Amino acid sequence: MIVGVPKEIKVHEYRVGLTPASASEFIRNGHKVIVETNAGAGIGFSDADYTAVGAEIIPTAAEVFAQAEMIIKVKEPQLPECAMLTENHLLYTYLHLAPDPAQTDALLKSGCTAIAYETVTNDAGGLPLLAPMSEVAGRMSIQAGAHALEKSVGGRGLLLGGVPGVAPAKVVVIGGGVSGMNAAEMAVGMGADVSIFDRNLDVLRRLDARFRGAVKTRYSTAHDLEEAVLDADLVIGAVLVAGAAAPKLVTADMVKRMKDGAVLVDISIDQGGCFENSRPTTHAEPTFVVDGVVHYCVANMPGGVARTSTFALNNATLPFGLALANKGWKQACKDDKHLANGVNVSDGFVTYKAVADALGKEY
Ligand code: NAD
Repeated sequence: MIVGVPKEIKVHEYRVGLTPASASEFIRNGHKVIVETNAGAGIGFSDADYTAVGAEIIPTAAEVFAQAEMIIKVKEPQLPECAMLTENHLLYTYLHLAPDPAQTDALLKSGCTAIAYETVTNDAGGLPLLAPMSEVAGRMSIQAGAHALEKSVGGRGLLLGGVPGVAPAKVVVIGGGVSGMNAAEMAVGMGADVSIFDRNLDVLRRLDARFRGAVKTRYSTAHDLEEAVLDADLVIGAVLVAGAAAPKLVTADMVKRMKDGAVLVDISIDQGGCFENSRPTTHAEPTFVVDGVVHYCVANMPGGVARTSTFALNNATLPFGLALANKGWKQACKDDKHLANGVNVSDGFVTYKAVADALGKEY
């Protein structure tokens, strides 16, 4: 199969669909890989890195789309990219179609088959192609929060881990799933005083066993959460209620009563945010201050560490991508029901029920 990797065109998107190492895996499996020139330049992959593993560099996206049978990307295709897709293409990328009727219509019109990273599942009931980005966002939230606690950017002027003789900062993580657990991991590593709140007792049991006393696990009642938030220096919002907007767990009234210079990091901002004051921000201007409390609400946190994120994403997408290329999508999906769950669009129809329901499309 001819596998094409266009350069991402969404604003400030530097990730790339295949690393040179992943391209090499496809080539070793007998496929031809074509890569748009400079596709990985933003994160240190030169054209020469790709040619060194046997990929071919192509000057324009139009030529990549014209030659390739399978297109591997990171972000949902932008409308000019959709216009280059045809019924002969298999598209493998993040799609997030439910809130995006324009993209959905463009994909339906193209006739392509589109596999969405975010709906591929695993036996544990998780989303294996979404998890790496939650890992990145969780780990990054502590880095971002620690920086925001510095005086020069409006924070309390606190060092997360304290120093010998000085107490560490109090970190409250709300939601102990993939991103919350990774946030806790970093906060503990930096020596902070960490509490994690969740509503799922099995999650709290897992965290308790994993951290062996290094974090306090707390059941998330409104009363106890409020008490902890008012006493916190840094609060990480990492909740997810599948298929729903994030619940507003830190109200504007609570923020008024929080410590001056405390920091809120809302990882859940891509689901509307779990703090009442949250509004999406960008890496160019990541924070804003309300009632003396610094809010960090970057909707695309992994984009800030695009090189790490590209490797993390490739580690998860590669096995499924190889199966698609080696067997063809129909056979690969017959053999793997979890991969089949990724098929969102095929042959002019929406093939994923939640997307069809959200957009009122025939399913
Ligand atoms: P996850 O499903 O692994 O974990 C979510 C946890 O929240 C679960 O353990 C759940 O029990 C808990 N929860 C639900 N309601 C709660 C409540 N009221 N109180 C306490 N805990 C509660 O989800 P995840 O992969 O960690 O993702 C979390 C959020 O981060 C999602 O909205 C995801 O889309 C988002 N995310 C954002 C970025 C970004 O760049 N901002 C990047 C990746 C993921």
